[in-house]
Amino acid sequence: MKKLAALLATPMFCSYAFAQTIRYDVSFPNIVHHEARIALSVSDAPQKELLFRMSRSSPGRYATHEYGKNVYDVAAVDKSGKPVPVQRVDGDVYKVAGINGFVKVEYTLYANHADGTYAGIDASSVHLNMPAAFMWVKELEKAPITVAFNLPKANDWTIATQLKTTGEANVFTAPDLQYFMDSPTKIGKLTIKEWTVPNADNKPSQFRLALEAKASDSLATAFANKIKRITEEARMVFGEFPAFDNGHYTFLASINPYVKGDGMEHRNSTMIALPVAFDGSDNLLGVFSHEFFHTWNVERIRPKTLEPFNFEKSNMSFELWFAEGFTQYYGELLLERAGFDSLEEYCKTLTSLVNTKENTAGAKRISPVQASSNAVFVDAGVAIDRTNYPNTYTSYYPYGASIALALDLQLRSRGLNLDDFMKAVWAKHGKPEIAYNVSDLEIVLAAYTKDKAFAQQFFAKYITGHASLDYGPLLAHAGLLLKKQFEGQAWIGDMHYAEGAGLTITSNTIVGSPLYEAGLDIDDEILKVDGRLVSKNDELISILKNHKPGDHIAVEYKHRGEPKTAMLELAENPRLQVVTNEDAGKPVSAEMTAFRNAWLGSKWK
Ligand SMILES: [Zn+2]
Repeated sequence: MKKLAALLATPMFCSYAFAQTIRYDVSFPNIVHHEARIALSVSDAPQKELLFRMSRSSPGRYATHEYGKNVYDVAAVDKSGKPVPVQRVDGDVYKVAGINGFVKVEYTLYANHADGTYAGIDASSVHLNMPAAFMWVKELEKAPITVAFNLPKANDWTIATQLKTTGEANVFTAPDLQYFMDSPTKIGKLTIKEWTVPNADNKPSQFRLALEAKASDSLATAFANKIKRITEEARMVFGEFPAFDNGHYTFLASINPYVKGDGMEHRNSTMIALPVAFDGSDNLLGVFSHEFFHTWNVERIRPKTLEPFNFEKSNMSFELWFAEGFTQYYGELLLERAGFDSLEEYCKTLTSLVNTKENTAGAKRISPVQASSNAVFVDAGVAIDRTNYPNTYTSYYPYGASIALALDLQLRSRGLNLDDFMKAVWAKHGKPEIAYNVSDLEIVLAAYTKDKAFAQQFFAKYITGHASLDYGPLLAHAGLLLKKQFEGQAWIGDMHYAEGAGLTITSNTIVGSPLYEAGLDIDDEILKVDGRLVSKNDELISILKNHKPGDHIAVEYKHRGEPKTAMLELAENPRLQVVTNEDAGKPVSAEMTAFRNAWLGSKWK
């Protein structure tokens, strides 16, 4: 996706006058049954034979998906409209031979899952994540693309997309397949709100919200103002907005009960779907904050492993702890800085991050780099067999965010901060669009801190390693107290149970927990604990309340119908909690207040 701005600045009739072109004509003859008919025309093809295929992955989604399953009635014609044979050579690949310069392949797309990953076609609106909808030509990935939408209700529908508009109504262009696939498109009764925010050079950067929601105009305006606040705070982290390719950034937001929950970042837009009734509240803002931060971190500060994006099989990346995890950290931090979150609320976020790092089996076992490479299986990947992820994997989202928190606090305790590190990454890798790998980030950290040993050690311990982190002294700088939430309380593990005749364990038991160590596993049915019958969660809790860590108690259970007994050695509940010194009845010094303000206060001037 590099050099994209230069490509877009060149008028297409100049640079591609004699090259092959791709054109999609999209119509909706059976929209009530969630179908579109899509015609893909190839002009000036020198090849006699072309492979047309559906994607198996999508920008921003890190696991493999099978979009070819929702395509049927595939047919092809030549320039005179004469049928050309189509040979299905794989589930999602169609071969057309005997081409003489021009061929048009048509197919029907079924789409009824509107979110950032898939597509949704309905009489109420059209929601297209491009890889889920558009077949493409393997030999012509570099060809410029035109897409024309033939709308069923042209008068009251609006089209919102990061694609470049042409003079013609409802017709858009992309310089190549990579950009086209990165450009989700929303069509429907959209409320459009636009605003500008001054960039570092004081020139206005342009933003728009295309909202599909049941919302009054004033509520939509108020909501757009909240998103504006987020864009302002985000700018301050990096110092400037990127130069958006077609002059603006678009939030495509569907907030209504007819979509599936998702948020997907793209280069000059984001596709947000929240399956709730729109109320304009601050609770809706988290995904906006996260996705907008991506316009720097992942869209332009880009891991080498995601370049170029492979639409036939998801790219494996070692850098998602940074691309997603640091984005998660900032998504939440920006809400705090913009005034949408109280300090008490933010303490809950911190509590969750600290527990992710210190109290999940995955983070004790694998590094953030290893967690990232698992994304090819876990990122909305669909499988029906059971896995041992609860014991072997912690998501690179909160795991990466927990590392960002530790790094931010460590830097701040040395008079530096993570914002300035992000600025340094932006300057070296983002703005010039030089893709990075893990060791490049270590090099930037060493240069920024002027401390090679610190950077080397931090990466060895916490990025390529999984050493334990002591957050207590770091949080203390900000007048926050890290404590055990359930100090002295007996614990057998955080499992889920189904209540019945006994308590059936419905989640993997976790390595190191008393239940796991006693040999109990998923599907085992606990009948008696400490000699007392248990059929309800509350009964188990009250039995444990009568004991302390270190006690040994008997458990009777059934494994596949066989009665068994074991001894549980009770542990102390390890869960940690972050609270303010105020709440803990401890003093907050002037230094602590200053540290808090520098970290959590607004940066927007
Ligand atoms: Zn993300």
